[in-house]
Amino acid sequence: MANVNKAIITAVKLTHTYASPDNSGDESVGTQALRGVDLEIAKGEFVAVLGHNGSGKSTLARHFNALLKPDSGTVFVENFNTADDDSTIEIRRRVGMVFQNPDNQIVANVVEEDVAFAPENLGIPPAEIRKRVDDALRTVGMYEYREHAPHLLSGGQKQRVAIAGALAMQPECIVFDEPTAMLDPQGREDVVAIIRALRDELGVTVILITHHMEEAINCDRIFIMNEGEVVKVGTPQEIFREVKLLRELGLDVPDTVELLYDLNQAGFNLPLDALTEDEAAAAIALNLGVSR
Ligand code: ADP
Ligand code: MG
Repeated sequence: MANVNKAIITAVKLTHTYASPDNSGDESVGTQALRGVDLEIAKGEFVAVLGHNGSGKSTLARHFNALLKPDSGTVFVENFNTADDDSTIEIRRRVGMVFQNPDNQIVANVVEEDVAFAPENLGIPPAEIRKRVDDALRTVGMYEYREHAPHLLSGGQKQRVAIAGALAMQPECIVFDEPTAMLDPQGREDVVAIIRALRDELGVTVILITHHMEEAINCDRIFIMNEGEVVKVGTPQEIFREVKLLRELGLDVPDTVELLYDLNQAGFNLPLDALTEDEAAAAIALNLGVSR
């Protein structure tokens, strides 16, 4: 699937150590957050990154747009090396970031000014900025709110404005670091739908870090992180059937897989690659000899 020429992001033996000590009790060593990560993400792919707290997901994400630099190993965005300071602008044009807390990402007092902030800093002509801002706000369903004050919006709406801000840069790729973690169910649903549409309708490469397994069900590939390493890569079907491994790594599995797995422990013989309720119901009905 991914090949070198079409890769948007490539990491080779990427390591990252924070200067502050880990909690091992040895003050002389830093925290090794990434331990030799090799990966390649193709243009247009939708990749989900799963892993328990502290496994290195956010550190990895920050390498993808040169917010952090490797201590050893290399990260390329297309052919730009993130270690090369002269490439930072080109890298940030290509890879946008959306973080967990929408309040930390809002920089202006009016929605449309907020979305215009990054393109203005790039020196893009005003008419072009106007168009980009309007397009981005329409894409996230926030055009009607363009003259509103961001701080009066709901969490989900603020996060949609943050996504519009990333989109206004017309990036190849957006990295979402737990974008729904602070949202209510409606906000989550809206944001997830937009993330899917960015990929399906605009062809944006999506890298989604999440704790919500259902958000990863429709992606192309899942990367599982543990202790600073990518320990498993596969399609959602391949990953979620590894119930035992996921549980050992402190991760959930989708509810449907959990149900099928528990039924199998009780003596059934059901496939574990039914990821939606419909698929699970069909698998159970088939097993019971019931036609639906
Ligand atoms: P995740 O996003 O998967 O929770 P992080 O990448 O945030 O993981 O963290 C990986 C490891 O690096 C953890 O042990 C964390 O405590 C440590 N870490 C993260 N950010 C910093 C920082 N700014 N300074 C020192 N240690 C950090
Ligand atoms: Mg994190």
